[in-house]
Amino acid sequence: MSARIAIAGAGLSGAVLARQLAENSAHCIVVFDERSHIGGNCHTERDPATGILLHTYGPHIFHTDREDIWRYVGRFAEFMPFLNRVKAVTPRGVFPIPVNLLTLNQFFGRTFNPAEARAFLATRCDRGAGEARNFEELALQQFGRELYETFFYGYTKKQWGCEPRDLPASILARMPLRFNYDDAYYNSRFQGIPRDGYTPLIRAILDHPSIELRLGESLTRAARGDFHHLFFSGPIDAWFQHSLGRLRYRTVHFQRLEGEGDLQGNPVLNYTDENVPYTRVHEHKHFAPWEQHQRSVAFQEFSKATEAGDSPYYPVRLLDDKKLFSSYRNLAAEEKGVSFLGRLGTYRYLNMDQVIAEALDFSRETLQAWSDNRPAPSFPHAMGNSVLS
Ligand code: UDP
Repeated sequence: MSARIAIAGAGLSGAVLARQLAENSAHCIVVFDERSHIGGNCHTERDPATGILLHTYGPHIFHTDREDIWRYVGRFAEFMPFLNRVKAVTPRGVFPIPVNLLTLNQFFGRTFNPAEARAFLATRCDRGAGEARNFEELALQQFGRELYETFFYGYTKKQWGCEPRDLPASILARMPLRFNYDDAYYNSRFQGIPRDGYTPLIRAILDHPSIELRLGESLTRAARGDFHHLFFSGPIDAWFQHSLGRLRYRTVHFQRLEGEGDLQGNPVLNYTDENVPYTRVHEHKHFAPWEQHQRSVAFQEFSKATEAGDSPYYPVRLLDDKKLFSSYRNLAAEEKGVSFLGRLGTYRYLNMDQVIAEALDFSRETLQAWSDNRPAPSFPHAMGNSVLS
């Protein structure tokens, strides 16, 4: 049987799902995006003024431990090796971040080896408190007060718009602490950036005769009747017209800087001081060191709460938000003929490789359900059953 299937969102989730359904069924897949371009927040484009490849919604460095996912993206684009090496500009100087042996030795003015650094840091840490209940407690346990205040307090307050003690410890758990001189931002086995950016990668994923693309068009509940099934990768609360209230997201906005040569000498500098209004500055030609450009473009990145019209980036996921999400999740379970996926559809912070892995799994779950004459599941199985996960 051939039916019309709709997917809302031409970002990574929507594109990977569309491709898998197109390759493995006889259905016609119509992909909608309310923006005028594909790629979602991974979208990249050439700057008309300088020709530099810009990561329009902020820097994206692809990293994964999974060889199958690395191979999957390699099918559609050539990836260039790229290790993100970030420096933190602090009131006490400039240091490599994540905190590593060079950070520790320079910050404390010492020449420790790994074992000495570990023992020294232990004397600075607050180890009495038992299991950390929030970001701040975990930071004090792992890094001690001086490092916490210099590298994490101000940055986190700016990024999330609240006190770090009000955030879950899991946010800090994303950051490595290393007692060697490895200064790469991520630990993943495979890391890179597509030679020509993410938009050609996603264009190649969507390039299939059974996929029809409709840009500048949003898909609403009213369109349900036109399709056999509909997949929604936009914000789940928007699908339900925010009927239960708005889920909170952080968004970012950018201030452009342009000049000759090298503006800051590195792809990303984090500004950890609370009194500097932006969180970081990214200079985009440094994300494509295989290209030559005389001019340069950089962006100061500011973080704020999402208001009407802003693009949602990071789900806030504090307790109240998770409760509200679980109410939307119950509504979604009642919604016939519609599934939700992706970072915004499932209200979780997912890296690009996780988004791809989940879309691949979800397409298999969906195809299996259809072949058993069952409806597609409402959410990816990988999301788990815990409403507060
Ligand atoms: N963080 C910080 N200082 C830094 C970099 C990160 O305090 O220089 C904190 C911040 O709260 C951030 C968290 O560590 O949300 C995790 O860092 P990551 O780079 O994973 O942030 P994200 O990908 O969420 O932007």
